[in-house]
Amino acid sequence: MNIKVNTNFDNISESYLFSEINKRVSKYKNEHPNANIVRLGIGDVTLPLSKVVVDALVKASMEMGVKETFRGYPPEYGYDFIKEAIVKYYDRAGIKLDLDSVFLSDGAKSDLGNIVDILGDNEIYIPNPVYPVYLDSNIMSGRHINYLYGSIDNNFLPMPKDEYKTGIYYLCSPNNPTGATYNYDELTKWVEFAKRTGSLIIYDSAYEAFIKNDNYPHSIYEIDGSKECAIEICSFSKQAGFTGLRCGWTIIPLELKSDNHYLNKMWKRRQATKFNGVSYPVQRAAEAALSEAGIKECDINIQYYMENARLLSELFDKKGIYYTGGKSSPYIWFKCPNNMKSWEFFDYLLDKANIVGTPGAGFGTNGENYFRITSFATHENTKEAIKRLEELL
Ligand code: PLP
Repeated sequence: MNIKVNTNFDNISESYLFSEINKRVSKYKNEHPNANIVRLGIGDVTLPLSKVVVDALVKASMEMGVKETFRGYPPEYGYDFIKEAIVKYYDRAGIKLDLDSVFLSDGAKSDLGNIVDILGDNEIYIPNPVYPVYLDSNIMSGRHINYLYGSIDNNFLPMPKDEYKTGIYYLCSPNNPTGATYNYDELTKWVEFAKRTGSLIIYDSAYEAFIKNDNYPHSIYEIDGSKECAIEICSFSKQAGFTGLRCGWTIIPLELKSDNHYLNKMWKRRQATKFNGVSYPVQRAAEAALSEAGIKECDINIQYYMENARLLSELFDKKGIYYTGGKSSPYIWFKCPNNMKSWEFFDYLLDKANIVGTPGAGFGTNGENYFRITSFATHENTKEAIKRLEELL
């Protein structure tokens, strides 16, 4: 062929984190077939869907098999019933949203990656370390990237600085991988900064359901003025166990305007062109997850994971090891002992305690010397891991 390709792809680093982990674990298992390996690297939910959700899914699927209730293409932006359920969910926190500001998606990842479609060539500011999708999708579209460095000095919660320019700011709270969560005061400073500089915040709140403390906002729209400077992208994945079903939502307030363009209108156009909606049964399942009974049932799973996080945090508190997360997040992010590098500690932990975690360096340069473990394992495995860590650390 003799066509031109998007050579920005040359600038993306190989996504080798999880394949490298699997490679090292397989090698270890081959060499130590009797090792009882505990996996605390899991970034996926492990408990099944709640009954309320499954019932809705089954009922809607049955409707699809009956002439009178069959439905074809869904609306690109979501049926009104689910958009209304999302508006009501925000209303519980005192946030008033326009129905037209809600866009249903097949998960947060798609919209986090696709949002660049409606944005021009801006300065991009991305936390380091963080979930890699913001970085890779901006590199693919040839954007200039700046980093918001997280470290022990800011407890992995970077704040605005005077030298930062007008641009697009990605914030993730509670953060993956650090679990660090912005409080009201900190998020207010970001909103004030964005308004002062005419910047846009893209706020990833995929883990908001893990916040159980009144000091932390669940949504950026709890902060005054944020509808003039922020898009929020959210997910049913961790909140309701939809990683396999696929559903999320994005809020683009009607007020958001720049360069004489309304972002909501542009996203509508973008979605109508490139997205054909979420399947009807999944939308009904999502609606059920946001019902009073659904929220309660889904929360039982979240409490299960958070009990693991509490037990793990307790260990780090006892040992006096620096960590973030574990309180409003399923992730615990800690400093490797003896200044070990992330991958060095990965091998050490696997060898000495038969525990698998995730090296912090895989989430950005500032993740070096740090390590992520998660609370998605069973109580039994988490307790077993804690026993082993107690001896090792
Ligand atoms: N945002 C963050 C911070 C995540 O960690 C993840 C998944 O791990 C996602 C978004 C993706 O969510 P979804 O499953 O809705 O695509």
